Amino acid sequence: MEHFTYKINITGTVQGVGFRPFVYALSQRHLVAGTVSNNSKGVEIYVNADSITLKQFLIALEYESPLLATIDSIKHEEVDYREFEDFQIIETEEEGEVTVNIPPDVSICSDCEKELFDPNNRRYGHPFITCTNCGVRYSIIYDLPYDRKQTSMKFFEMCKTCDEEYNNPLDRRYHAQPIGCWDCGPTLELRIRNEELRIEQSEIVDKTVQLLMDGNIIAVKGVGGYHLMCDATNVGAIAKLRERKRRPSKPFAVMVRDMTMARKWAVINPIEEKLLCSKERPIVLCKIVDSNEQIVGHGIAPNISRIGLFLPYTPLHLLLLTKLNRPLVATSANVTDEPICTNLEELEKLQGVYDYVLEHDRQIINGCDDSVLMVVKEQQVMLRRARGYAPASVKLPFELTQNALALGANQKSTIAIGFGKEAILSPHIGDLNSIGSVAYYEKNIETLKRIYDFRPQIIIHDKHPQYESTKYAKGNHKGLPLCEVQHHYAHILGVMAEKQIRGKVLGVAFDGTGYGDDGHLWGGEFLVCDYDAYERVAHLNYFKLLGGAKAIKEPKRVALSLLFDLYGEEAMRLDSPTIHAFTDVELRTYYLSWKKGLNAPLSSSVGRLFDAVASLLGVCQVMSFEGESGMLLEELYDTSVAGHYSFGYDDGIIDVLPMVKALLEESDATVAVSKFFHTLVEMISMMHSKYDLPLVLSGGVFQNRVLLELVLEKIPKAIIANDIPPNDGGIALGQVVGSLV
Ligand code: ZN
Ligand code: ZN
Ligand code: FE
Repeated sequence: MEHFTYKINITGTVQGVGFRPFVYALSQRHLVAGTVSNNSKGVEIYVNADSITLKQFLIALEYESPLLATIDSIKHEEVDYREFEDFQIIETEEEGEVTVNIPPDVSICSDCEKELFDPNNRRYGHPFITCTNCGVRYSIIYDLPYDRKQTSMKFFEMCKTCDEEYNNPLDRRYHAQPIGCWDCGPTLELRIRNEELRIEQSEIVDKTVQLLMDGNIIAVKGVGGYHLMCDATNVGAIAKLRERKRRPSKPFAVMVRDMTMARKWAVINPIEEKLLCSKERPIVLCKIVDSNEQIVGHGIAPNISRIGLFLPYTPLHLLLLTKLNRPLVATSANVTDEPICTNLEELEKLQGVYDYVLEHDRQIINGCDDSVLMVVKEQQVMLRRARGYAPASVKLPFELTQNALALGANQKSTIAIGFGKEAILSPHIGDLNSIGSVAYYEKNIETLKRIYDFRPQIIIHDKHPQYESTKYAKGNHKGLPLCEVQHHYAHILGVMAEKQIRGKVLGVAFDGTGYGDDGHLWGGEFLVCDYDAYERVAHLNYFKLLGGAKAIKEPKRVALSLLFDLYGEEAMRLDSPTIHAFTDVELRTYYLSWKKGLNAPLSSSVGRLFDAVASLLGVCQVMSFEGESGMLLEELYDTSVAGHYSFGYDDGIIDVLPMVKALLEESDATVAVSKFFHTLVEMISMMHSKYDLPLVLSGGVFQNRVLLELVLEKIPKAIIANDIPPNDGGIALGQVVGSLV
């Protein structure tokens, strides 16, 4: 049959994932000659083949591609005939705009795991074993193209054997940038405070296991930062960690050896299992098994029936857990409100929290927390998008007219860059409440700009004048145009972008707080919107946040404000847990501030309404961590309770006072909480019936599993995001597509 020369272009995540050797292996199987190379857009192949062979070759490219590759497009065309003797991988140095994606960090693959535990393998027990299909990527990259000399592996010179593997196109480690072995790879170090303990490499893991068994807290260097780890079955160790970290009740995540161990702790459905075992290895919130008093007693998740579980994702974790054969508390090592520690110097700030450090000498270039997910009604809900997912790109529903840098919000901050038809979302950065976190935020902006060789043409930020992201935009735009996108509009736009929705939707933004167009703190919003504009068609009636920002941490202040709205001065004489949470002097002071509107900003936030309900029912007066009131209310929800409370509706204003009044008269907190949830669902359902539009849900309140479940039960077609968080971590993506306005 006649031979032609074809040029094949492949785009997507196709670099740094073993794509060229895969193509090489295919060429040997299909007996075709030609070349394969990387270029700025992806992978370029030339082959000499007849039309039938070409077809088979293309099918194999698409269906047999390497584990970590994701193909966006394969295009082929016939070009002028060229003579090739054999098939070759060629190196290309090409200038041009970088459009290939950085592969995220992934967990150890099953081949490497087998070798790790095979006494006859030369990498037996090697804590840094890796291959083309697995291991660190984003966290060790300085710059693209992804090549060893652009990563923190550049400090390790390969031994002869590793070098041979690295250069053999048919080896699993061909061009695996983080490749190493006992002779040439990174090494472990066990430290007590500032000193290195003198222990043989091969004995460090055993010694660490012994220290964990003895109840010590150990800072363990992972992929994108350190974890604080301790034995999850040791009450004393956990209490010690809580005390030292000053974290009285916020649940800890737990790393388990495998699914068998996971099942001793939690009931896990098939979708949760799939996520737990996925190459991204996120933390998945699962339901604690009824019989496991251990967990409750041990203080891992006090008063809460869900636990964040995850499986080991590095060879080091696997070695530790296999030898330990018991679960480990594994919480990110960071000072409260600061980003995750990525080196010893940063870790020093936590001195006094940990007893030992399990250190290694492969530097973390880009910090990256663990990702957190939950499954609701068989759908994945991203709560924190970081390791494993970031900085993977999101396809946009339309082509951007200019390069957009979106700066996100202030809590759970992320940033995004948008160009062409895609957006790259940074990993979770954290709350911008400290100098350290703002510096880390700025570093993330610079990193994305550098790696993607990205020059913004427009900068998009939130409307809130006090957000650090807004201040950054105003101080650093260097003459570039600025664009504000309203917070809740951005929440809805984020979902629309991810789901590639075109046309109008009814967006429900149930949120903590976000700056509204009228300067008030919105958060219970119904928006009819498309990419061009939005109309606020309904919202909760405003109530006052007594004490401003303080009200966000103290549910009792919001509840008191609602009681004043209902009963005026008389409220002070009510026999209510809210009233009892204040002194008489405080009550009088807040009454005046309520009456005169002093230090009492107006809010329509559903998040704050949750707080108020928790206070009124005596569940929570002051929160020790964000979202605590909602979690505690979830625990009280009872599926056997039917009915809801009434609420007022007049010309787009939803009045919750009738509900609050009825709630106060309820004698059973379980009934009250359940009816409260149903009332929120009823509001959404009423608005949905008024507007014949697709219903989009977003905002931090939809992290509440019970509420989300109830809404999806009542309105199965309601649309939520699966790949970006409903909380402020999803704002940056919404801003990117809102920049048209
Ligand atoms: Zn591997
Ligand atoms: Zn080696
Ligand atoms: Fe928000």
